[in-house]
Amino acid sequence: MNGSNPQTAAGLARKKLMGYVGFANLPNQVHRKSVRKGFNFTAMVVGESGLGKSTLINTLFNTTLYPRKEPLPPHQERPKTVAIESISADIEENGVRLRLNVVDTPGFGDFVNNDESWKPIVDNIEARFDAYLEQENRVNRSKMQDNRVHACIYFIQPTGHALRPIDIEFMRRLHQKVNLIPVIAKSDTLTDEEILQFKQRVLSDIAYHQIEIFRAPVYENEDEETIAENEEIVNKIPFAVVGSNTEIDTPDGRRVRGRSYPWGVIEVDNEEHCDFVKLRQMLIRTHMEELKEHTNDVLYEKYRSEKLLAMGVAQDHSVFKEVNPAAKMAEERALHEAKLRKMENEMKLVFQQKVAEKEAKLKQSEEELYARHREMRDALEKQRLELEDKRRRLESGRPLTPEKVSSQATKKKGFSLRN
Ligand code: GDP
Repeated sequence: MNGSNPQTAAGLARKKLMGYVGFANLPNQVHRKSVRKGFNFTAMVVGESGLGKSTLINTLFNTTLYPRKEPLPPHQERPKTVAIESISADIEENGVRLRLNVVDTPGFGDFVNNDESWKPIVDNIEARFDAYLEQENRVNRSKMQDNRVHACIYFIQPTGHALRPIDIEFMRRLHQKVNLIPVIAKSDTLTDEEILQFKQRVLSDIAYHQIEIFRAPVYENEDEETIAENEEIVNKIPFAVVGSNTEIDTPDGRRVRGRSYPWGVIEVDNEEHCDFVKLRQMLIRTHMEELKEHTNDVLYEKYRSEKLLAMGVAQDHSVFKEVNPAAKMAEERALHEAKLRKMENEMKLVFQQKVAEKEAKLKQSEEELYARHREMRDALEKQRLELEDKRRRLESGRPLTPEKVSSQATKKKGFSLRN
């Protein structure tokens, strides 16, 4: 062995190459593959109507992903619960394809009683985890579709005071299921001073209620520039955003996306004016992969373990589970058995239902038979009574009506034939 190679703590030897091998090209391979396959990202937007959710999404991706919303006609009733709506779009920039899914939650916080506004949203996030878990348990896992929510942008009303109970309740219910990114909506309605104070209040409320919001992780060995960039982003949370898709002219003759006021122009893409640029940078340029990774490795993993635990499969949270094929097989077998049990129960139910249907049908035919039997019996009885009546009339020598004569003749004919 080469004694000059220092051994690392993990017992790995660092080797010096004697010439070019080619694996330095690995990152490019990964890059090419990703570009070919395209990227997929699902963002959820939550907040009351009119806080600028659709405008912000359109501004973020510089597209009219959201059609213009028409106000509801007065006679049309508003829905009574939080609805979940999903929009997907393939957007392309310099040959790189991004499949963007936006999950909107119209109705959140819009009712008189908003006690359970968070529930349909939690259900939707969990249903997406379930769909992924189900795919993981399939034999063929080559075409996994990831519809899990990778980021939830939560719109806080620009009240300038503090978080409201509905904000706290929502975040408390969701922080361990989704990457929460709080934003102060329509921040152009607050002064710089008010924004600073409001941010501090929001952050202290978040800390007080032990809510975990997404914070860009900082890794060891990261270069200084990246660390500084991350810090700048983290320092802006909760992002004070302004959205606008309209281009306007600034007094100094530039055309910018922004909002115009008598006292001046608020530029969306100007970091001096709002935090929109930082939010976009985090979501799209620097942390999209982190958001997806955190969703998969932490949030989904937690949900998955709890679900399996509830199904009676004990799990080890350490890395050991990942590399222990026996544990993995046991887990898969348990899942498979649970699935079989579910199928068996379903089949039993279907069988019982079919038997009940057949029994009902038989009972119905039986009743029909009885009814027909009764009808025939009544008809025969009627005929017998009529005949008896006729016999009595004949015997008493009373004349018969023509109809009775003919039936009498038939009877006589029958009588003579028989004799
Ligand atoms: P949503 O119901 O949350 O999707 O809200 P919309 O995006 O439909 O916006 C509602 C209204 O607020 C529209 O008239 C927008 O032009 C306006 N709006 C959106 N974003 C902002 C913003 O950042 N500042 C201000 N002042 N108004 C905004």
